[in-house]
Amino acid sequence: MRNLKKTSSQEEQSGWGDVGGLVDICNIIQEMIEMPSKFPSIFSKAPLRLRSNLLLYGPPGCGKTHIVGAAAASSSLRFISVKGPELLNKYIGASEQAVRDVFTKAASAAPCLLFFDEFDSIAPKRGHDNTGVTDRVVNQFLTELDGVESLTGVFVFAATSRPDLLDTALLRPGRLDRLLFCDFPSWHDRLDILKVLSRKLPLASDVSLATIASMTEGFSGADLQALLSDSQLAAINEVLKNDLGQSKKPPCISDVHLRSVASKARP
Ligand code: ATP
Repeated sequence: MRNLKKTSSQEEQSGWGDVGGLVDICNIIQEMIEMPSKFPSIFSKAPLRLRSNLLLYGPPGCGKTHIVGAAAASSSLRFISVKGPELLNKYIGASEQAVRDVFTKAASAAPCLLFFDEFDSIAPKRGHDNTGVTDRVVNQFLTELDGVESLTGVFVFAATSRPDLLDTALLRPGRLDRLLFCDFPSWHDRLDILKVLSRKLPLASDVSLATIASMTEGFSGADLQALLSDSQLAAINEVLKNDLGQSKKPPCISDVHLRSVASKARP
């Protein structure tokens, strides 16, 4: 399955084509969610239940949420996305009910991708919450994840930047048992992310994204997005300063803008 992400021109239009780098993770997710629907006769004969749940973890801004959005956009699955804190409710029983409801909704929408972002906020280690709310929520998650029949056709993905806070029972085989690490991007991945994020930007011909990738070690994808945005603002300010905004040309981002912002930016 190597390089599967990069092979389809249709997917380059949206979805996977919006993700820079992270090729191995994209391939694993793509294989997991697309192969069963592409080859249903083979997969339906497989005696063991296939793994369809996973946890993405890694530093903030490194593409966890972005990659799940891309997976949903490029698949035919229905997509239910929930930010962890949305499920928490101070009224007794309401949070567990909210978890039950979201799984019921996903089951009735199958085939479906159910995504819990900021998962640590709803699934922390049990025994530390005086109110008992999150303990009951975790118990409810365990019940739902063990409900093999009701989860047929439902892919359960979760993301967190604090995997250390999670209740480990959730990561047991058969539950969220596939763990994918989204780390800070390498030089190669930074270059790829810069290419993807600058696709629609007016870049001057002197721009070397490879040089910018070299100047941005330790930057996350979100930092690179901010760098491009600040460079665009620098280009706009320059136009305003030079011709008071009379020019008809779109403000062009030059190598100087990018280098100057990158040299000042701290990840
Ligand atoms: P957090 O843990 O704070 O929720 P995250 O890992 O989920 O962070 P995202 O929300 O996915 O981070 O990324 C923030 C933004 O950074 C995205 O909306 C996107 O613009 C950009 N970005 C991050 N990684 C990538 C990537 N690999 N390719 C393209 N854009 C990226």
